[in-house]
Amino acid sequence: MLTQEQLAKLQAIIDERHEALELEIHRDAARSRDEPYSLLAGSVPDSGDSASADLISDLDNAELSRDLQEFRALEGAQDRLARGGYGSCVDCGGDIAFERLLAQPAALRCFECQKGYEKTHAQTPKPTL
Ligand SMILES: [Zn+2]
Repeated sequence: MLTQEQLAKLQAIIDERHEALELEIHRDAARSRDEPYSLLAGSVPDSGDSASADLISDLDNAELSRDLQEFRALEGAQDRLARGGYGSCVDCGGDIAFERLLAQPAALRCFECQKGYEKTHAQTPKPTL
């Protein structure tokens, strides 16, 4: 079980990360609005430039969707902290090590279950919700 002190520390990490991600997501969303495709591609309509503009925009989207995924995971962690159940593995119900939570405060599984989960789910695409 986590001590009150450990929980307080994790809560602070989660809140800080959550806030930073929120800013980052807003900034990224604003940037994709402010820089339409034509600006990214530059003034010279050459096929090489458009290809790299596509690539940049794909990379931005990938980063944004990673941020959103982490953001939602952190909200889940805040919810579990508020309602109880934070720090328990969703698969085996055991305690998730404090060190693991420090590194990944939104972790849902203990190290052993996560290993098993990644093994069975490695080939299937991640659900979007
Ligand atoms: Zn477990």
